[in-house]
Amino acid sequence: MARLIEQFERLPGIGPRSAQRLALYLLRQPEEQSQAFAEALLAARQLVGQCQRCGHLSAESHCNICVNQERNIGIICVVADSRDLLAIERTREFKGNYHVLGGLISPMDGVGPETLLIQALIKRLDPEVVQEVILALTPSVEGDTTSLYLARLLRPFCKVTRIAYGLPMGSELEFADEITLARALEGRRTFE
Ligand code: ZN
Repeated sequence: MARLIEQFERLPGIGPRSAQRLALYLLRQPEEQSQAFAEALLAARQLVGQCQRCGHLSAESHCNICVNQERNIGIICVVADSRDLLAIERTREFKGNYHVLGGLISPMDGVGPETLLIQALIKRLDPEVVQEVILALTPSVEGDTTSLYLARLLRPFCKVTRIAYGLPMGSELEFADEITLARALEGRRTFE
């Protein structure tokens, strides 16, 4: 029991009381349910990898967004991770493609540009195809550092914009509501 509670406590946003509640709930359910839960977790772990093009989570070599012919390949929205991508998808406003960096530049944590999926992004910037890159990174020191770095690097290839910040400083993209996020996208500006 203690081991199970401990595992739940490690999840983001789950405190000791919620962990206990979840563990007790699961133990009261039929055994098949625990079996299904454990199997789904292990299967996801084994099957889900990274899209070879954009870095989003995917069970196939290319994710469902990259293979979708109806999406505009001329616009690439750059996000820090798959959670942010999913937050923007929830707005249903963006019809372009994405690129998932896998983090933000943070010298304090030893994360330099070389550890992020930046070279792969540059390779995608065929000037015949890509007209715009939208930087949709969280408004934070790390987000701003990464945006600045990318803007300088990408400007020779295409137009670089960033989402407008009605978002408060330090706020996580994934927690922004759909309307705020849709507005931030719509009000994007050319990176100065
Ligand atoms: Zn992809």
